[in-house]
This record gives sequence, structure tokens and C-alpha cells, in this order.
Amino acid sequence: MGTAPIGILGGTFDPVHHGHLRIAQEALEQCELAQVRFLPCGIPPHRTAPHAPAKARWEMVRLALNSHPDFLVDVREVFRNDPCYTVDTLTALRAELGDQQPLCLVLGGDAFLQLHTWHEWKRLFGLAHIVVLQRAGGQPLGNAMNGADAALQAEYRARLAPGARALHESPAGAVFVADMPALEISSTDIRRRCAGGKSIRYLVPDTVANYINTNSLYRTC
Ligand code: ATP
Repeated sequence: MGTAPIGILGGTFDPVHHGHLRIAQEALEQCELAQVRFLPCGIPPHRTAPHAPAKARWEMVRLALNSHPDFLVDVREVFRNDPCYTVDTLTALRAELGDQQPLCLVLGGDAFLQLHTWHEWKRLFGLAHIVVLQRAGGQPLGNAMNGADAALQAEYRARLAPGARALHESPAGAVFVADMPALEISSTDIRRRCAGGKSIRYLVPDTVANYINTNSLYRTC
């Protein structure tokens, strides 16, 4: 039984690419999520300002989702002028969706390994489950965790769920590691290719590549 969780995939999406779409699809299927909401951030607190304007990053996500029946764009962060903290966004979603709805924050392994640097990070576990997908290029997550921050390791070990069904049986608090085919795609690499006049075909949906060309985005990086 239980309730199908809602997946939340935050990112800068500068630009959105097939790595993002694939982690959403893997999380959707392996965790039997009801939907995945893509949340492009406005001003990311943990990194330098995005290269493309908020409106362009939002439009590219909208084009990339291409009416996927289970993927949605959530615009609550992207047009804000102050830094957005995930803990605040999840608090707002929790208030809208109620105490019982399972929520899953979907993260790449690189993002999960830095979770202890996020604002009020331990509160995240009270608001959502965390679904982690291995990112290409790094060590397997289990090995990488041995070198991770001690407090993050302790949370990971205490919360690790043996199977995805656990995500349906409580609203928040578990960590689940989902399988992911290694796709060595990053927005940084795509921006570099654009600036170098190289093709980004097959790294992003064609609609996104066309939008980047038409709007002359990422000519410098
Ligand atoms: P940049 O290169 O600008 O840092 P990015 O490609 O990492 O960007 P983000 O928008 O910062 O993209 O990523 C949003 C989320 O998607 C993060 O949790 C990140 O770990 C995850 N992610 C991005 N690309 C991949 C990928 N190829 N495989 C697995 N996870 C990914």
C-alpha cells in the first residue's frame, strides 16, 4: 500500500540536458513516483550566478520535458531575486501537499556528497526522502561515502533504505540509492562546447539545442 511519492528535481539547468532527464526517468520508474517536478533555481546559494537568464533556463526545461505525462516544471524558485534554499522550498511544498504525502528529493551523487554544506541540511530529512543517482566519473557512491563528511556519513548509514517501497510507507526521512547508467554529461561541458562552436547534439534534446542557437546563449563561458 502506501502513497506514491512526488519527486523533486532541483537544479540550475544551465542548460537542462539528457543527464537530468534520465535521472528523473530512473527515479520515476525505480521509485514508482507519482510525478517528478523540475525546479529550476533562481539564484543558487552554493555556486556562481547562472550564465543564462532565469526565463531562458525555465523555457529550456519546459521544451525538454516535451509534455512528458509525469514531468512538470515548478516555477516557484526561478523568478525569485533572493537565494533559494531547498529547505524553504520543501517546507512550502510540504505545507501545500500535507504531512502525509511522501516527497523524494532527487539528487546526483555529486550533489549528495556536498549535502552537509546546504543551509539547515539536517532538516531536509524531516521534509523529504532523498533519492541519489550515481553520477559518471566519480567513485561508486558506497565507496565515495567512506570519504564523505562524518555527519553526512552517519545520516546516510542510519537512513539507507533497502528498497524503494520504503519511500511509499512514510512521508520523509529515508535515503535510497537508485541505479543510473553512467552519462557523462554536464551543463559545464555543454556551455564549453557552445563557446567553442561545437555541436551539442545528442547531449540535450533538439528543442533545447535549437533554443540555445536561436537565442545565442553560451557564446562565451
Ligand atoms: P553544472 O555543470 O553547471 O554544474 P550540472 O550538469 O551539474 O551543471 P545541475 O543543474 O547543477 O547540472 O544539476 C541538477 C541535479 O542533477 C544535481 O543533483 C546533479 O547532481 C544532477 N545531475 C546533473 N547531471 C547529471 C548526470 N549526468 N548524471 C547524474 N546526475 C546528474
